[in-house]
Amino acid sequence: MNKTAIVTGASSGIGRAIAERLLKLDYHVIGIGRTITENTIGHPEFTPIVCDLSQTNDVIALWPQLQADNAISLLVNAAGFGRFEPHEELTPETIEQMVAVNLTAPMTLTNQLLRTLKANQGTIINITSIEALRSSKFSALYSATKSGLRAFGQALFEEVRKSGVNVVTINPDMTDTGFFNELRFGVHESEDAKLLAEDIADAVEQILNSRSGMAITEMTIRSQRFGISKKS
Ligand code: NAP
Repeated sequence: MNKTAIVTGASSGIGRAIAERLLKLDYHVIGIGRTITENTIGHPEFTPIVCDLSQTNDVIALWPQLQADNAISLLVNAAGFGRFEPHEELTPETIEQMVAVNLTAPMTLTNQLLRTLKANQGTIINITSIEALRSSKFSALYSATKSGLRAFGQALFEEVRKSGVNVVTINPDMTDTGFFNELRFGVHESEDAKLLAEDIADAVEQILNSRSGMAITEMTIRSQRFGISKKS
């Protein structure tokens, strides 16, 4: 029987690259997103679930569907978004949605799946951000969600390590995805001044291939050179 992975944000960017890699590694992949369909990744072992992760009650309502699969051994929390504006320019709705998608949803899904992950000695991978590690102008809200998720994962590892469950934090630097579509800046065009979504999938594969008994708990992935492009 194939192992099952849940990947949030599997409809695009980093989450999709990870989902595609897991399919190559013979996982059955359940991908979660608002716009996800079977055609997102046309693969017989890919199952899409449409869910708006900003709606915590909708996340809780996934439980009966997820509970039915006792082969779940991997949860990848990749869904997320960022807005980088002066804090007073953000709306209360944006604050509520970003906390819900970037922080509450990963903690709620972990809460629902932890018994199954313990039974299967599974892995939780949280995609945070380089902004979880530093303090940048216009990033107070985003950094709060990402450093919160990092703290959650690190404390949870101490709680569950004896059960054979690993909890991994990946902190990516700027990665060439749709993340920047609604932002005033984007990644640099040079290949060595940006990350590719596949780089993060490579990291996930490395984590999953590591020796049982050795736990990689955090990875920070950066482009060799710094780069950014401003939109006019
Ligand atoms: P992306 O291409 O915009 O992907 C974001 C994903 O999150 C999409 O699949 C989207 O799915 C999902 N998502 C957003 N809001 C959602 C909601 N309300 N409900 C359900 N799903 C939702 O950007 P990405 O770069 O791959 O981002 C993936 C993760 O990496 C995010 O957590 C981001 O914070 C993190 N990250 C990105 C970068 C970067 O430079 N790109 C750097 C560090 C960390 P739907 O639109 O289908 O809902």
